[in-house]
Amino acid sequence: MPARRRATARPRAALIFGDLWEFDPAPETADPRLKPRYELFIGGSFVRPRSGRYFDSINPANERRLAEIALAGPADVDAAYQAAARAFRPWAATPGRERGKYLFRIARLLQDRAREFAVAETMDGGKPIRESRDFDVPMAAAHFFYHAGWADKLDYVVPGRSVAPLGVVGQVIPWNFPLLMLAWKIAPALAMGNCVVLKPAETTSITALKLAEILQDAGLPPGVVNFVTGAGETGALVMGHPAASKVAFTGSTEVGKAIMRQLAGTDRKMTMELGGKAANIVFDDAPIDQAVEGIVNGIFFNQGHVCCAGSRLLVHEPVADRVISRLRNRIRVLRVGDPLDKNTDLGAINSGAQLAKIRRLVASGVREGASLFQPPCRLPARGFYYPPTLFTGVTQSHRIAREEIFGPVLSILTFRTVDEAIEKANNTPYGLSAGVWTDKGSRILRMSTELKAGVVWANTFNRFDPSSPFGGYKESGFGREGGRQGLLDYVRLAGGGEP
Ligand code: NAD
Repeated sequence: MPARRRATARPRAALIFGDLWEFDPAPETADPRLKPRYELFIGGSFVRPRSGRYFDSINPANERRLAEIALAGPADVDAAYQAAARAFRPWAATPGRERGKYLFRIARLLQDRAREFAVAETMDGGKPIRESRDFDVPMAAAHFFYHAGWADKLDYVVPGRSVAPLGVVGQVIPWNFPLLMLAWKIAPALAMGNCVVLKPAETTSITALKLAEILQDAGLPPGVVNFVTGAGETGALVMGHPAASKVAFTGSTEVGKAIMRQLAGTDRKMTMELGGKAANIVFDDAPIDQAVEGIVNGIFFNQGHVCCAGSRLLVHEPVADRVISRLRNRIRVLRVGDPLDKNTDLGAINSGAQLAKIRRLVASGVREGASLFQPPCRLPARGFYYPPTLFTGVTQSHRIAREEIFGPVLSILTFRTVDEAIEKANNTPYGLSAGVWTDKGSRILRMSTELKAGVVWANTFNRFDPSSPFGGYKESGFGREGGRQGLLDYVRLAGGGEP
């Protein structure tokens, strides 16, 4: 028998996972330059809270206290709005090209201190250093650069019409991308001539307060940006303050609805960036290995704490077994553990409360009859960790297919036809993002037209750019951040009216 035929008859060698994939620890050692206590940032200075109260920010990777954070009460939020209102007229009257210079300076100073910010972000929030270093911090700087470029081009925001700033804007952000969400919010507001009162999430306030140091170094006029820290009660004060011309909220749909109820009947301009339950749809003609990487990135990036995470995988039946088996192999080699280790793929879950929510929803998936797969994986003894998780045999009525888990948990469903994929993808109250994996351009065009989602990625997932507007449909919210569309939410047409 010829040698060639003998060779093809041999069984295919299986990839060996296990000890071969062990790495030595590679901890990031840059100094995050944390202070033991952070005050409020009002009128360009760090000030003690009139409430006299502080709360702890802990490191979710080991549950140790990182710093004390001031808790802003009604008098503090009021002081922040007063400072912003005083700063507004001179800031709005500053020529756009001068405002742009401040934004450029902020971007450059953030780049100068990028490694320090990345370490602080990872310690405060639990995300892998690889992501804070390569994504969060550079992307935050990119947003300041991008909007710096818009500041002197106000005449081109709505061609043929001149635009004017709104006034003081109240902003509240979540904990999953603390610095980046802050940049998404304050860069367009400042570029268009508004002043800001912003509240970071209570578990991740530190990088906002470090950015306040940069605002001071950049010489930003006092009061143009103010940071008040605290939990939901402080957030409600920021959103409900009568001096706010507009409020911008990013967070859960539940809290977004509460804010809308709170502000119903007022003429407050609003934007809401809320939750999601995105479908990542893989057709049988997709490049399967590339799709598997996209699925992994879609759901395990930032431990799945991503509003646009591809948390529902819809896979075409002819390739379902192949995709699922490759996914299982792929997640066996994901490294879960110390977020400061440069080899870590999945860091810590942001808080004990979020970990409890993930566990509750996973338990509901098992109870309702879906099949759970978790690779064997050693989790650190202290801190909040959860292994990468796949559910097969999921039906549309399962809670894990309907509710946002906001963790490293993928629910896998199958489909036979394009129409079925579209119907299943749209069968959700959310509409933030979706992914399509196929070789056919015509199918991509049809899917992107028929999927009710603010962003549809084709043959990729979780791609962001400051020039690309981001936002939702249905219960994922309204308004856009990024691009020219994002600017429109921070201006009115001169002489009145909506852009
Ligand atoms: P959350 O709604 O619990 O909290 C978000 C922020 O709102 C926090 O700063 C919190 O302190 C504050 N807050 C809580 N109650 C409030 C109230 N009554 N009034 C005003 N503010 C209040 O959400 P979270 O758990 O921090 O973040 C996760 C959620 O954020 C997920 O649902 C995720 O999908 C969503 N998210 C959406 C986007 C987007 O662009 N659409 C981006 C990131 C996160």
